[in-house]
Amino acid sequence: MKTVDTIKEVREIVNQQKMQGKTVGFVPTMGFLHEGHASLIDKARQQNDFVVVSVFVNPMQFGAGEDLDSYPRDKQHDTQLCQEHGADLVFFAQVDDMYKKGFCSYVDMDILTKELCGLSRPVHFRGVCTVVNKLFNIVTPNRAYFGKKDAQQLAVIKRMVLDLNMNVEVVGCPIVRESDGLAKSSRNIYLSAEERKAALVLSQAIKIGMEQVKGGETDCKKILDKMKQHIENEPLAKIDYVKAVDCDTMQQVAEIKQPVLFAMAVYIGSTRLIDNFYTEDV
Ligand code: AMP
Repeated sequence: MKTVDTIKEVREIVNQQKMQGKTVGFVPTMGFLHEGHASLIDKARQQNDFVVVSVFVNPMQFGAGEDLDSYPRDKQHDTQLCQEHGADLVFFAQVDDMYKKGFCSYVDMDILTKELCGLSRPVHFRGVCTVVNKLFNIVTPNRAYFGKKDAQQLAVIKRMVLDLNMNVEVVGCPIVRESDGLAKSSRNIYLSAEERKAALVLSQAIKIGMEQVKGGETDCKKILDKMKQHIENEPLAKIDYVKAVDCDTMQQVAEIKQPVLFAMAVYIGSTRLIDNFYTEDV
């Protein structure tokens, strides 16, 4: 496995592989890697000849007052995890290389980004679309792997690839959880012991919602009310949103007639956590 930190080196190495007819799988991340990221690397390893992982805390997708500076970083641990999961190349992208002086080109998206996380994080998806577009241009992958944990991001990337005719297959991968149910996240490290316990209300609410769907309930409001009620019982939790949306358009729906995504963002203390389930997966 090689680690590099310039765009030039990534291009040279990937070009060599492509000239030999190899397929390239790509896993973009912000680092501080855990088993959720590892599951994406494993999937990429199964489906491609050459696996590239990028690690980049992308300043453009953080709003003012968000956790850009405090976002956890651990290059040594990330390198080791990538090695253990059979990655071929890890790209530790650098801000100055990614955003050259005078940078002023962006990829933006309407509709899908105006709901859920897009409402409380208005600049977030412009940053995500721009950086993923750039990384796709640099890595030129055949397939790219994204977690369903960030369900809106997955929908946005799929839409961007479709709308802009990008030659990449986007593969969505299941949420990896801790043994007690909490969705794995690099941000879980922000939680105190007390908050870590309180954070279980997210996955518990997901379970409550899934049970409702399993039981045949199709009225989204009834399902959402039960989920919200559970979260509101936890004093350390503050709901940003708990919503039911169409899986592709991210627009709110009242009834389960087509595949629906139940998604939530909840503050536990000052840490904002997300979780979700798709009715398709129930
Ligand atoms: P991040 O480093 O948080 O930007 O995440 C990089 C990729 O890993 C994204 O596609 C995430 O959706 C995915 N990911 C993060 N956490 C998980 C998880 N618990 N299960 C599955 N995928 C995840």
